[in-house]
Order: sequence, then C-alpha cells, then structure tokens
Amino acid sequence: MGPTIKLSSGHEMPQVGFGLWKVDNATCADTVYNAIKAGYRLFDGACDYGNEKECGEGVARAIKDGLVTREELFITSKLWPVFEDGDKVEPACRRSLADWGLEYFDLYLIHFPGALKYVDPAVRYPPGWHYDGKSEIVKSSTPMHVTWASMETLVPKGLAKSIGVSNFQAQLLYDMLRYAKIPPAALQIEHHPYLVQKELLALCKAEGIAVTAYSSFGPASFLEFGFKHAEALVPLMKDDLITSLAGKYGKQPSQILLRWATQRGLAVIPKTSRVEVMSQNLDCTGFDLEQVDLDSITDKDAGIRFNQPSNYFSTDKMWIFG
Ligand code: NAD
Repeated sequence: MGPTIKLSSGHEMPQVGFGLWKVDNATCADTVYNAIKAGYRLFDGACDYGNEKECGEGVARAIKDGLVTREELFITSKLWPVFEDGDKVEPACRRSLADWGLEYFDLYLIHFPGALKYVDPAVRYPPGWHYDGKSEIVKSSTPMHVTWASMETLVPKGLAKSIGVSNFQAQLLYDMLRYAKIPPAALQIEHHPYLVQKELLALCKAEGIAVTAYSSFGPASFLEFGFKHAEALVPLMKDDLITSLAGKYGKQPSQILLRWATQRGLAVIPKTSRVEVMSQNLDCTGFDLEQVDLDSITDKDAGIRFNQPSNYFSTDKMWIFG
C-alpha cells in the first residue's frame, strides 16, 4: 500500500486513489478490476455517477480472484442533494451500498451542499439535478445541520466508517464544526493549479479535515461540456511550466500535477481507462518537487472553478449552489 492520510475518525485513507466519474457503464467493471490489479486501493464513487453496480462488479471479481480483500480497499460514495432530507440519508446510503454489493463504505460524503426536493428512486435513479428530469430546480427546506445529524447515524450503524463533505466552502464548514458531534473527516474539492484554494486548505489543516483534490488536471475534465472558460485555457499537461518541470524531474506532466497536490498534503483521485496511465498516475508520490517548484505551480492560481452546477445549466435557479 502507498502513502495514507490518517483521518480524524482514526481510519487511514490512501493518498492516491481512482476516480469513477464518467467511467461508462459498459467498461466500468473491467476498469475497476484493472485499477485494482494496477495497485489502486481507493475508489471514489457516487450515486450520481450512475455506475455503482458496475463498480461493485469489478470489486467483487477482484476479491473473488484473490487480488485484494474488502478490508484492503477504501471505498467512497456520495449522497446526492435530493437525498439530503433527514429521513432520506440512510435509505440513499443503503441503496448505494446495495448497488456496490458492500456492507459498509469507508467514506460517505455529502456530494454538494444545498438540499433539493426528494425524487423517489422508483421515479428516476440516479436523479440528477432536476426535479422533473429536465429543467426544474426545486429546493428542499432542509438545513445542513439536519442532513449532517443523519449522516452521523451511519457511523454507529456500521454503514460508513468515516463521513465527510464535498464542494463545501469555508463558512459552511465553520458552521458545521459548531454543531457536529462527528466532525467531517474529509473534504473533497476541485483543486488544480488554476484553483489553488489556499485559505480553504489552511482551514482544513487547522481543523484536522483531510482534503481530497478532484479534477487535478483542471480544464481537461470539462472540455466535453463545451465550457468556454475551459477551452480558453492552456491545457495543464501542455503548460510551459508543467512540461519544463516534467523534463527536470524525468516525469510525465500528469505526475508533476499529482505530486504538487500530494506534496501539499492532499489526496488525489485521477481517473483513466488506459492501464498504462493508471500505473503512471498511481506512481506520483515516489519523488519530491523542490519547494521553489511547488511554489511556482501554486503561483499559477487564477481562481477558476469548473465544477459548479451553474456552469452546467442555463437556469437562473442554479445560483443557490454558487
Ligand atoms: P481527472 O482530472 O482525473 O481527469 C481528467 C481527464 O484527464 C480525463 O479525461 C482522463 O482520462 C485524463 N487523464 C487522466 N490521467 C491522465 C494522464 N496521466 N495523462 C493524460 N490524461 C489523463 O478528472 P475528473 O474525473 O474530473 O476527477 C477525478 C475524480 O474526482 C472523478 O472521477 C471523481 O471520482 C472525482 N470528482 C468529484 C467531484 C465532486 O463533486 N466531488 C467532481 C469531479 C470529480
């Protein structure tokens, strides 16, 4: 096992894991199996990714073939906003567990803050953002402290070893820390050289919240959505600074980007379906960047965020998510 991060729950989380967003259903089981074979132990899933059954199939096959045991794996899933009403949290977690074929998650996260009106899984699953499945955004009146209290019940019930949040900003975390009986063990956020999030990282460090970076390659993950601000930027893998550091350290640009994040103390969860790239991405902690190089990457910060709900839809209601 590679390096791990000790969570406030007492459990260890691998520092390098595998992301499951946009891994298509047809290839997902094989991708997960191959990633386990390549050495990945952490898998970052979510109800919203619509592939939890297939992910579970890959895990089950790897366990059956003796590649790994359940205890050696660290599996994360996420609660979608339509399940943030207090009485919907546990059933949503149980549905994700059933899809994966697991008895517990190592980490269960609130995917986004901001509860939405409940959508019965019998109507549509995964439910997505829209109440009508097309364009309607309907808020629920549930505040975060109610959702979090329900998240906390998952731990003694043995459904989640650790609980945490994703896409939360500082003020909401500060608020949570005032009522949480179990503080969030982890925060998962968009993090790349165009979005460095210095202050949020400092807050998490001070409060003992582990941080996982997603979309470590920045705009690369968002080109397929036609985001103009992603297309307008130099791809990070082709950026002059990143490619020159790749030359200096004899590594791939992707490994420089992942090492910058891991040396800042973050966990990373890159995703790829190419087996040779899986190994390359996993191999991103065995060398060190000099401080001056870490700083020069950090200096690229432009405060550019891609994964915010308002970027995906032309609806005037999406401001509720920032
Ligand atoms: P990523 O940054 O891991 O990958 C972006 C693109 O780069 C992908 O198309 C991938 O195929 C490609 N790529 C991967 N490794 C490469 C390499 N070595 N060389 C060249 N290209 C490479 O993108 P991501 O999927 O946005 O983020 C990773 C994971 O983070 C997701 O799969 C998901 O699990 C998680 N995530 C979470 C949230 C959230 O809201 N919590 C949002 C986005 C992503």
